[in-house]
Amino acid sequence: MNEEVSGSYIQEYRYKYVVENINDIVWEMDANLIFTYVSPSAKRIYGYGADEMIGKPMLSFLTEESKEYVSGQWKAKINSRKDGDTSDIVLYDLQFLCKDKTIKWVEASVKPLFSEKSFIGYIGTTRDISEKKIHEIELKKYYDKLEAANIELEKLATFDALTGAYNRRRFEEYINSAVNKEETHGIPFSIIMFDIDRFKLKNDTCGHIKGDRILQEISQIVINAISEEDKLFRWGGDEFIILISGKSSEDTYKVAERIRDLIESNDFGIKHDKVTISIGVGEHKSAESMDQFVSRVDDALLTAKSGGRNKVEMC
Ligand code: GH3
Ligand code: MG
Repeated sequence: MNEEVSGSYIQEYRYKYVVENINDIVWEMDANLIFTYVSPSAKRIYGYGADEMIGKPMLSFLTEESKEYVSGQWKAKINSRKDGDTSDIVLYDLQFLCKDKTIKWVEASVKPLFSEKSFIGYIGTTRDISEKKIHEIELKKYYDKLEAANIELEKLATFDALTGAYNRRRFEEYINSAVNKEETHGIPFSIIMFDIDRFKLKNDTCGHIKGDRILQEISQIVINAISEEDKLFRWGGDEFIILISGKSSEDTYKVAERIRDLIESNDFGIKHDKVTISIGVGEHKSAESMDQFVSRVDDALLTAKSGGRNKVEMC
C-alpha cells in the first residue's frame, strides 16, 4: 500500500467509524427522496435496520402531518433553488413512525448534494428529540395557561364580576382620557349617575339572588342603550356611573330620561312591582377635578331621590 493509498484508507476508516458510532443517524437520499444510505444507528432509534430503509421513500416513514409539512417545504425549496438558493442546511422537526408503531420526534438536518453543479439528492443527519419535544409541548401548555390566567386577571382588574360593567378602578383612567380630549379638542363629556330606588327593600322581599339578577339586567339594558364609546361603571352597591362622550348636559339628560324610562317599563319578573332608578346628570366644567365633578352630580342624584325618586335631575 503506497503512502497516498494508506492515507485515504485511514481517512475513510475514520469517517466510517464516526458515521457508524455516533448517536445521530446519518443518511443520504436521491433526488426523489429515496434513501440510498442509512447508518446503523437507525436500528436503535427507529427499530428499522438500514437494509429495511434503503430503497424506500423517506416520506413513507413519516406521520401524515409531517409528510404534508416536508412535501410543502420540499416544493418551496425546489422553487427557491431555481432562484439560485443552493446549498443551505435546513432543519426540520418531524414525527417519525417507528417499527414498533410508536411515533418519535426527530430533528433532521438536510443539505442538498450536487455533482458538477447538478442536483443529485440530499445528505443529512437525524437526531432523536422526543424528550426535548415533550418539554417544549409541556412548556407551551404552561405558557398558554399563563396567558389565559393573565387575560382572566386583566378582566378581573377591569370589569365588575357580577354585572360586566367596568369597575370603579377603571373610572379614573377613562375620565382622564375624556378630560384630555376636552382640553385638546374641545370635546365635551358628561356623566349620568344613577342608583336603584329602594333596592334594599327589593332584596328583602325578593331575595339577594333576585337582587343580583336585577343588577345584571339593569346593566345590560344600559349597555344596550348607550353607544360603544360611552362606558358604564359600577360605582358600588346599587350605584352606577355612565361616562358619555361628546355630549352636553342637555343631550345627556335625554339619554338619561330614556334609560330611566327603559328601566321603569322593563318587566323584571317581580309580581305587582317595578324597578326604578333615580338619576343625576352633569357636564364636566373645565378645571373641575374628578372628585368635584362626581360630587356635584351625586348631589343632583340625591335631589332626585329627595324629590320623589324615579327622576332625572340635571346640575
Ligand atoms: P334608595 O332609594 O335610597 O337608594 O334606597 P336603597 O334601599 O336602594 O338604599 P340603600 O343604600 O339603603 O341600599 C342599597 C342596597 O343595595 C343595600 C344592599 O342590600 C343592596 N346591594 C348592594 N350591592 C348588592 C349586590 O351586589 N347584590 C344585591 N343583591 N344587593 C346589593
Ligand atoms: Mg339605592
